[in-house]
Amino acid sequence: MLEKEFLERFSQITLKMGVNLQKDQGLLIVCPVEKHHVAEALCETAYKMGAGTVTVRWECESIERLNYLHDSQRYLTQVPQWVVKSREYLLQENFCYVAISAEDPNCFNGVPADRINKAVQARSKALKKFSDKVMANAIRWCVVSVPTLNWAKTVFPNSPSPQEDLLDAIAKTMRLDSENPLLEWEKHVDNLQRRSNILNDCNFSYLHFTSNNGTDLKVGLADGHNWLSAKEKAQDGLEFIANLPTEEIFTAPHRLRVDGKVYSAKPLVYNGSVIDNFCLTFKDGKVTDFNAERGYQTLKELLDTDQGVLRLGEVALIGKNSPIAQSGILFYNTLFDENASCHLAFGKGYPTTINNSDKMTRQQLKEAGLNDSIEHVDFMIGTCDLKVVGVNKDGSQTTLFLDGDWVI
Ligand code: ZN
Ligand code: ZN
Repeated sequence: MLEKEFLERFSQITLKMGVNLQKDQGLLIVCPVEKHHVAEALCETAYKMGAGTVTVRWECESIERLNYLHDSQRYLTQVPQWVVKSREYLLQENFCYVAISAEDPNCFNGVPADRINKAVQARSKALKKFSDKVMANAIRWCVVSVPTLNWAKTVFPNSPSPQEDLLDAIAKTMRLDSENPLLEWEKHVDNLQRRSNILNDCNFSYLHFTSNNGTDLKVGLADGHNWLSAKEKAQDGLEFIANLPTEEIFTAPHRLRVDGKVYSAKPLVYNGSVIDNFCLTFKDGKVTDFNAERGYQTLKELLDTDQGVLRLGEVALIGKNSPIAQSGILFYNTLFDENASCHLAFGKGYPTTINNSDKMTRQQLKEAGLNDSIEHVDFMIGTCDLKVVGVNKDGSQTTLFLDGDWVI
């Protein structure tokens, strides 16, 4: 696909289906500096749609890398008040917010993991109020991707034109190559909604995951859990889609009721390092043992973040025939890879995955089984032979997945 055509369609889908930008509303775009023209295209489309104002926050990994390497101890973990205030401003003004995720998976290679983790944790702590509100849909937000050079080279190491190849792959997964992408999205969203309605009607006690790689895990679901898919409602009542592309149907595991062993199905990129071929043992909801063939130290650092990160905050179901899974491409980017495979997430759960959560206190959410942490990190478990069975309180069973795909 030509980049010009891509950007037109990409901007339309992101602003209409993604954040559902309204007349006179403010928009923040978080964009890598090397993709200046993408921010410009989004900005133009936003103003055509009647945006009140558009602000861009530029990100640059090579500078960030230098910060991680050389910041003094004091500055490494200091989050300036103006950063916290800038997030509060977004909430006050009900901005919507588009984040472009296009990290080079190797950008922080060679940076000591403990320095990155200290800095990331300090930022997560300082911005926890904001991320809590975002996760409770206080504003409409959307994560999308465009190819950056180093990322594209990692995904297509042997290609003479990796950025073009990645652009085509993203266009396919975002359904931008169809005749009418908006219509395709409407259809896709309806289909996801149909399945999440079925799961909500079933109201399972737990899901049982089994696979030939050794996975045998029972994931209890939180009391009053609510299965969500693409379209969510923000607190102002308007709908939005938080991830584009999205293929998942997800809900809240019960923080105390996860038992068994689970093996990863794809590598996990965390803070610029790859963790691969890892397994976790759970007892009463908590990781009690873990191992990793690659990135053990990074996994250990992640699991040391706080107590909540040892428990699960999300369980998500995605069939192996989704366009992303079908592409067979390992994107080294969670936005895509999590949508290619059933996954779980370490850490914080989404309050929106509990019914009536807006009327519940933190303590009530915890009692219902919703997990809390400063982290939320997805990891993929969906092998092509995965079986998933939903089990009700009375022991009755419904098979949801056979050989890695939906049977309902
Ligand atoms: Zn997910
Ligand atoms: Zn997640």
